[in-house]
Amino acid sequence: MVFLRDFIKNPHLILSKFEKTKELLIEEKPDLLISVYTCLDRIQHFHWGEDYVVEWYKRMDDKIGELIFDTGFLDENNNNKLIIISDHGFCSFGEAKVQTLPEQTPEGKLKGDHHEDAFLVTVNVDYEIDRPQDVFYTIMKGIG
Ligand SMILES: [Zn+2]
Repeated sequence: MVFLRDFIKNPHLILSKFEKTKELLIEEKPDLLISVYTCLDRIQHFHWGEDYVVEWYKRMDDKIGELIFDTGFLDENNNNKLIIISDHGFCSFGEAKVQTLPEQTPEGKLKGDHHEDAFLVTVNVDYEIDRPQDVFYTIMKGIG
């Protein structure tokens, strides 16, 4: 697990995870690959409202682009299925409908908090994803 303090000092730790995922896609061609990135969550908790958040979204967008385009994963003849999902969105600290986090943490003061909206992108997925558990049903249908 990479903690925020390690991540801020060494952002390459996160970016190297993309390289490992890319390597798996190219060399192993797995039937199912689930890759979880928590760095945007950590960044938004501590830097919500700063340009730093946008910088990291751009960085992650570039890396996701490398994963799905540079590997041929989404080539027309593959018909691979892709789900990119967040478990929540973000808002300013104190604006969350349900307050679950303390404002002061050992890592510093929180500026961002969890919002109930989430992010979802699908490609070649014919199962309706309205709830988090629908991702499970989609995967089960796909590998059934
Ligand atoms: Zn969080």
